[in-house]
Amino acid sequence: MFQPAQRCKSIQLSEIRKMFDLTLEDAINLSLGEPDFDTPLHIRNAVKMALDDGFTHYTSNKGILELREAISCKLADENNIEADPESIIVTVGASEALHISLQALINRGDEVLIPDPGFLSYDPCVKLAEGKIIQVELHEDNEFTMTADNVLEKITSKTKAIILNSPANPTGAVMQKEDIKGIAEIAEDKNIFLISDEIYEKIIYDGKHHSPGRYTDNAITINGFSKTYAMTGFRIGYVTSKAELTEEMLKVHQYNTACASSLSQIAALESLTGPQNCVDEMRSEFKRRRDLVVKRLNEMGIEIKAPNGAFYVFPGIYNSVEFVNEAIKNGVVIVNGSGFGKCGERHFRISYAASYEKLVEAMDKLEAIDF
Ligand code: PMP
Repeated sequence: MFQPAQRCKSIQLSEIRKMFDLTLEDAINLSLGEPDFDTPLHIRNAVKMALDDGFTHYTSNKGILELREAISCKLADENNIEADPESIIVTVGASEALHISLQALINRGDEVLIPDPGFLSYDPCVKLAEGKIIQVELHEDNEFTMTADNVLEKITSKTKAIILNSPANPTGAVMQKEDIKGIAEIAEDKNIFLISDEIYEKIIYDGKHHSPGRYTDNAITINGFSKTYAMTGFRIGYVTSKAELTEEMLKVHQYNTACASSLSQIAALESLTGPQNCVDEMRSEFKRRRDLVVKRLNEMGIEIKAPNGAFYVFPGIYNSVEFVNEAIKNGVVIVNGSGFGKCGERHFRISYAASYEKLVEAMDKLEAIDF
């Protein structure tokens, strides 16, 4: 009989994707983390021109130099991270960046701390690297943010890396500067790597984003264009870390994808160097939607504080499994919280990256559920 590799057998396909595939055509889908906005016109136009110019061949493995230079400037200006273009790899989404970071860093049995609840790729990506998952439990009474104390409790002599995600999927939590700094100090002290997934950095409603890479050389900074510029289908992101580690990641990247798509790299370059008002406009609209969803949930008796970032709410409700099933029957696809880790049980996630009108309709349907 066919025996697949144990590392594949040990993981499952994404529950969210399964639900997405099962969704009826007229259902309102609030399950995916995908902005509903069109990719801004100037970005699409830059891609069209590149296509007409025949920019359709392999690029250097790390990505075109102009893009890596633009990323390097962005990291210096906005994140206080000094990253030489040579230490940056342009990847097929933040997803690939996460994968190559773990592949380059983790040996069998190394412990990797991941947030619980947390983005559902973290667990399988660590397992594919044959690492051992250690959950860092995050709690609603602390607004699901990760603190230095949460992390310290979980560190052993086998801890190799900690995955940070601020603003966070699925909770919308934004970490405080002191916590980022505190965790960076631990990383320095104990020679542990911080894998910082900053894909929602531009979707913060109050306050500021802080990158651990500013405080420690042991940071691997991951970012991408999917959320900020509504570019999910372009599949483009990047990663940077200290030069020696980037070289190891490059081996995995080179033999896996060779390089990110040439046209997507043009889109990424235009997004960084072109006008940024599209980002502000999208953020304001997300805020309007967040306020609507939070207000409506509170009015129907599901208590929730407005999360400070990303485009998700993660309310707690005792019978979340039944609630999610009823919502789907009523034509609103949302996700049960247990998919994001044990601490996600008795919660559900709504992605409000759908139009305001659709959200109003979805809230009416949720309100009609007897729970
Ligand atoms: N990290 C987080 C926290 C995410 O929510 C997502 C997308 N859902 C990703 C990474 C992957 O993004 P990309 O489209 O750049 O691969």
